[in-house]
Amino acid sequence: MRLTVRQSLLFALVLASALCAAQVVPGNLDVHWNEGAADCAKSQQPPIQVHAYEPQTYILRQNPCADFEANFLYLLIGSEKALLIDTGAVTDRNRMPLADTVLRLLPDTGSAKLPLLVVHTHKHLDHRAGDEQFVGVPGVRVVSADLDSVRSFFGFTQWPEGVAHLDLGNRVVDVLPAPGHQFCHVVFYDERAAVVFSGDFLMPGRLLVDDAPAFRQSAVRLIDFLKTRPVSHILGGHIELDATSDTYWFGTQYHPNERALALSREDLLALPAAFAHFNGFYARYSDYVLFSQNRILALEAAVVLVVLAFIVWVMIRLVKRWRRKRAYAKTRSASSHSPLTPAA
Ligand SMILES: [Zn+2]
Ligand SMILES: [Zn+2]
Repeated sequence: MRLTVRQSLLFALVLASALCAAQVVPGNLDVHWNEGAADCAKSQQPPIQVHAYEPQTYILRQNPCADFEANFLYLLIGSEKALLIDTGAVTDRNRMPLADTVLRLLPDTGSAKLPLLVVHTHKHLDHRAGDEQFVGVPGVRVVSADLDSVRSFFGFTQWPEGVAHLDLGNRVVDVLPAPGHQFCHVVFYDERAAVVFSGDFLMPGRLLVDDAPAFRQSAVRLIDFLKTRPVSHILGGHIELDATSDTYWFGTQYHPNERALALSREDLLALPAAFAHFNGFYARYSDYVLFSQNRILALEAAVVLVVLAFIVWVMIRLVKRWRRKRAYAKTRSASSHSPLTPAA
């Protein structure tokens, strides 16, 4: 049997994918995340919950009672260094002992801990408020979340094109620009566990759209990158949907009956089409909601202005009518009280 060049390439691609898939370290997502409370003052819950997805990958969830954003953070351990993706919504180490928790999870290397690199999916404060806790800690490097720092650290010369590679030692994490939710957003692909860490770019919640065309293009690039790679799960920065796909109220600290954290490759594959039909304001899907906060706020502001203008117009008309009536009444009153002209 002779294979054509095209068939040979296809065969090699399938073989490479199969080999890759065979090496993926499986993980466990069988965990119930603490759900916060309707009255946090009456409910004592640990501020941070740690779940070992597999022995070298930890998922950290900030309790909704500590901050309504209830961020998910991810700690990946390699043989030479560890990587922390995002530092969450709380700065105060007394309310959120993030650095202590992370440092405790790091393996020892002789007299020190494994070096730690702290990076971010994007610049929104709820993903980097905990940075301060790592400042000055020996063996820890924090990469700032601004675009210049992200571009220069990862070596993105053609932003938002390109893929960077972080070698943690026997574990490579790929980094891809993914603007759309926020202009310096990146996503991480862990080759060991075949997990995409997607931040607020893709998660079971409100995908706040800052730039719809950029968002769609980022989805297309990520889909293309993952075409030949296995994907176990896509893990984002928040859960904002319950198990029936209803969104929680914005700002709530109570997440009863939460939907599962993980999304799938299929959810990502559906994203470009979702943007193709996006009305620019709001679109609801079973696993996420597209939501253009800026446009909705602008629309609400415009509606408020129109209503205010209408109220002012009505008031001006009422005042004018009242003045006319008063002038008419004065005229009538003056004519009825005027003295009669004597007859000639
Ligand atoms: Zn965000
Ligand atoms: Zn966020």
